[in-house]
Amino acid sequence: MHLIPIPAFNDNYIWMLHDGERALVVDPGEASGVRQTLERLGLRLDTILITHHHADHTGGVPELREVTGARVIGPAFETMPEPLARVSGGDLVDALGLRFEVIDVPGHTAGHIAYFCAALDGQPLVFCGDTLFSGGCGRLFEGTPGQMHDSLARLAALPGNTRVCCTHEYTLSNLAFAVAVEPGNTALQAYLAQCQALRARGEPTLPSAIDIERAINPFLRTSEPEVVKAARAHAPGSASDPVSVLATLREWKNVFR
Ligand code: ZN
Ligand code: FE
Repeated sequence: MHLIPIPAFNDNYIWMLHDGERALVVDPGEASGVRQTLERLGLRLDTILITHHHADHTGGVPELREVTGARVIGPAFETMPEPLARVSGGDLVDALGLRFEVIDVPGHTAGHIAYFCAALDGQPLVFCGDTLFSGGCGRLFEGTPGQMHDSLARLAALPGNTRVCCTHEYTLSNLAFAVAVEPGNTALQAYLAQCQALRARGEPTLPSAIDIERAINPFLRTSEPEVVKAARAHAPGSASDPVSVLATLREWKNVFR
């Protein structure tokens, strides 16, 4: 099975899985890059998975469905390009001979879902949309800090070697913020250098991995003393519980330059 990030817009990736014959794509915000890739590799589009309702994740769905006849699967509780099969936490999706488990991850949007495959060529993989980014997390447009905290905890509990397929190349700006939060984190320094080298060569920093994110992503590290200390220094008088720390980090990141 092959995993390809198809670039879209400024900084989106449309993830494609294919077996040389059939393909699956996740969150096609536009159709053109997917159609070119299908043609170039001689693939038939079998399935479209959607994580949430934002246009940069769904805009290409009607055209791709019409041109390829692919079936569409998306979140049960969001406005979606119809028709589609609607799924939510605990549901299983079978595609390309693989089995995906749906995980509810509200926070960025109210009905956001992720798709976890426990074994893909011997290694797990998760399509997490705009919930978990490398070094960061999505903005809280429709959910609460508590929901995002629980959603990130669900993702952080996946096996450490799970490949993390996020939908945006936000890694370097996230890591600049992460370093401001945790200047003493040596794993973070090393990962930053590695990601800077990748971007300098024009390569994606993704997929990341769950064990990397646990070590470097401040939004998964809201119980770490250095992260708590930084959040409370930024917002004097704020509480030190993980949800309050996440709320502070998210607001701080919104204005961080
Ligand atoms: Zn989004
Ligand atoms: Fe997005």
